[in-house]
Amino acid sequence: MQIDVAVIGGGPAGLMAAEVLSQEGHIVHLFDAMPSLGRKFLMAGKSGLNLTHSEAIDPFLEKFGVASGDLRNSLLSFSPDNIRKWADDLGTETFVGSSGRVFPKSMKAAPLLRSWLRRLRAKGVTIHVRHKWVDWSADGALRFNTVEGPIKVNAKAVVFALGGGSWPQLGSDGSWVPTFKEHGFGVETLAPANCGFDVEWSKHFKDRFSGSPVKNLILTVGGRALPGEFIVAQGGVEGGGVYQHAAALRDEIELKGEAILYLDMKPDVSEEALRNKLFKPQGSRSFSTHLKKTTGLAGVKAALLRECAADQLGNAATLASAIKNLPLKLQAPRPLAEAISSAGGVGFQQLDECFMSTLEPGTFFVGEMLNWEAPTGGYLLSACMATGRTVGKAASAYLKREEEN
Ligand SMILES: Cc1cc2nc3c(=O)[nH]c(=O)nc-3n(C[C@H](O)[C@H](O)[C@H](O)COP(=O)(O)OP(=O)(O)OC[C@H]3O[C@@H](n4cnc5c(N)ncnc54)[C@H](O)[C@@H]3O)c2cc1C
Repeated sequence: MQIDVAVIGGGPAGLMAAEVLSQEGHIVHLFDAMPSLGRKFLMAGKSGLNLTHSEAIDPFLEKFGVASGDLRNSLLSFSPDNIRKWADDLGTETFVGSSGRVFPKSMKAAPLLRSWLRRLRAKGVTIHVRHKWVDWSADGALRFNTVEGPIKVNAKAVVFALGGGSWPQLGSDGSWVPTFKEHGFGVETLAPANCGFDVEWSKHFKDRFSGSPVKNLILTVGGRALPGEFIVAQGGVEGGGVYQHAAALRDEIELKGEAILYLDMKPDVSEEALRNKLFKPQGSRSFSTHLKKTTGLAGVKAALLRECAADQLGNAATLASAIKNLPLKLQAPRPLAEAISSAGGVGFQQLDECFMSTLEPGTFFVGEMLNWEAPTGGYLLSACMATGRTVGKAASAYLKREEEN
């Protein structure tokens, strides 16, 4: 098959690239390994689709850390306001939640995806599902495995939108990494981002508190203190409060073999005030009753104190310090397959400012397969769609230039 442009991967990044290319008048062929498109996008909608974030642009850009410079132009040209307008045009009205996060009013992804795909088909985008891209043939054609056997496709421009490596059952399994490496592309190994961590809980703690939320905390890593909460899992911790520190924790474990997450379990009370309360005589009361009466700590938080600071419970000063700065030792990140997203991917150093390979002109990369990471909060989808838009425009300009030559 000879075509103008192939978009490989039908997640939000690839769909956005296909949308722009089709708006620019190109005949777009979109290929995906799975029987249907946007499976991770739909999964994201299961717990409330967090499309983007409403905060000011500077703190928004900061969330992309070292990659914020590479993503800046894309994120500015398809800003959170543009994303809301785009969703609105597809019949999905959005609202800003109390945390500043932006959601569809329905909270779901399915209606948005349905009308998005309808619009793409109306624009002439041809969708080929069950087409798994494998590699390139010796003559440079794209090779796909399909239910009818292998096929070859020659395209003047290719947009790779293969996603990261989390939740592989939804299609993005990271199997592209070795293939690109073999062909000389610089690819940082995929690693879990926005992930849970293993903790060696005692049997008693795990049996009693697995599944319990630990709320109203300040969580600190490397001097960065952020409010949040987490859930006690059978073998560790998971949830937003942990995810926001996941990159730093993962890197510390890589370096030192373990990492410490510090918990302030009474953010509204100073250590001194706690100490004064705890100095009150315990009398005949049990430790648990004394702790509850003086500080209000009970249940999972009291058990965490026993679990992580058993040697500090004996006097008011050390106990107050443990409550304000409880060290929770993390052993390892949970596997990539369980993470919300992945770090690593195709490095920016070999791409131009519109994410086209300088090694292979006409080859573009979008979305989570690029080497960036960000916390949850709508940042992931924002960057996937924004890079998709940048590449859609750049690939169109490339094709037009090629036609002229
Ligand atoms: C449970 C969960 C909840 C989430 N919630 C949110 C949220 O609320 N807000 C947010 O911002 N982000 C959220 N995310 C993250 C977000 O969904 C992803 O960052 C985003 O989907 C990545 O988009 P993408 O287009 O780059 O890749 P993907 O969405 O992963 O799409 C890649 C596509 O490429 C296809 N593909 C892969 N390899 C091949 C191949 N070799 N050949 C052909 N096709 C291939 C796959 O089948 C897939 O369709 C969530 C993720 C998970 C797992």
